[in-house]
Amino acid sequence: MDKPGYYGTFGGAFVPETLNATLEQLKVAFEQVKEDTSFWAAYQGLLSTYSCRPTPLTYAENLSRHFGGPRIYLKREDLNHTGAHKLNNVIGQGLLVDRMGKKRVIAETGAGQHGVATATMAARFGYSCTIYMGEVDVARQRPNVFWMEQMGATVVPVRDGARILKDAINEALRDWTTNMDTTHYVLGTACGPHPYPEMVSYFQSIVGSEVSDQILEQAGRLPTRVYACVGGGSNALGIFSGFLESPEVELVGVEAGGVGLETLKHASRLASAHGSVGVAQGYKTYFLQDDDGQMLETHSVAAGLDYIGVSPILSDYHEKGRIRFTASTDKEVLEATRLTMKKEGIISALESAHALAGAFREAPDMTADEVIIVNLSGRGDKDIFTIADALGDTAWKSFIIAKAEEYRA
Ligand SMILES: *Cc1c(COP(=O)(O)O)cnc(C)c1O
Repeated sequence: MDKPGYYGTFGGAFVPETLNATLEQLKVAFEQVKEDTSFWAAYQGLLSTYSCRPTPLTYAENLSRHFGGPRIYLKREDLNHTGAHKLNNVIGQGLLVDRMGKKRVIAETGAGQHGVATATMAARFGYSCTIYMGEVDVARQRPNVFWMEQMGATVVPVRDGARILKDAINEALRDWTTNMDTTHYVLGTACGPHPYPEMVSYFQSIVGSEVSDQILEQAGRLPTRVYACVGGGSNALGIFSGFLESPEVELVGVEAGGVGLETLKHASRLASAHGSVGVAQGYKTYFLQDDDGQMLETHSVAAGLDYIGVSPILSDYHEKGRIRFTASTDKEVLEATRLTMKKEGIISALESAHALAGAFREAPDMTADEVIIVNLSGRGDKDIFTIADALGDTAWKSFIIAKAEEYRA
């Protein structure tokens, strides 16, 4: 039996004393909704009319034929409102905020996807909303900042440190410490202090509960393997939850391999040799750090996977050997994105394409009676600049430059 708030030896809540009371309040509220079947029904009902749940499971017939191996299925989280699995989590937390009698939410965001999802939820529930974002990211992600503001959120550019995601997290924590009576901190992934890892994966388990029925109905059997990309770990824990109790299903988490695991330009905490156990940002897990415990810089073509920590729940499954971890390089990811567009007419987010690339690497060694599922965590419209650039589309670049000149004039 693990210590409360721990997953094996990972997790915990390493926070300033002042935050203990509000974390306790959150824990109690979450425990209550877990017991309450009417809460899950309300959650599911809201997502079914607001966000296309249950999302479909798509048989990728052309990709399956292309590799000549297993039948490949895609769980379509890209069809959620705001384009990814992130909405599952923020809608769940939004319902909890109401139960706790709070009226204000805050969040940190790097690429802006979690910020947009949180601003969307706040508009829907009528909460006031502040999003902390590094100044560098504000400049890089102008379209997302625009939409957050249009939905009524205040976007605060953070000017400390390197002015990126980790600095935004520190600023959000400062706000929370000051305003915890009125404010809920909407964490975007299955990381951070207890009860966040458990709570976020609980909301994302809606993906696993749908897909375990869908695959039996469509393929007539459990999958041989399930692949999901791993940033903080929420989409992976979501889909894996449907199969954790079925030991014959192999679960594969795919991290950001960046330029390659032999370099230091990646964000692979579990599959590479550069991750080690430490405590930071309120919890204990594998972090990318040097021998002195200094956090290393991460690199990935996909902003959503570019993070130094990983869910403590995944670190535990890694050590127990229940989930296998591997990584896909930027190059493999772009190739998998291109192939999926061409063969299936589906534009995958670069994050999700890590899982696709992992599956494509292994599919040729599998047989026709096997079945695999890839979690398509999000859609790739947001990645148009990166994809066009990588595929060498100069017409698109000229269009952007012409637009920029038009504005300047
Ligand atoms: C944010 C994001 C991720 C990474 O987050 P997890 O918590 O690891 O799921 C993956 N895919 C997409 C599309 C995202 O937006």
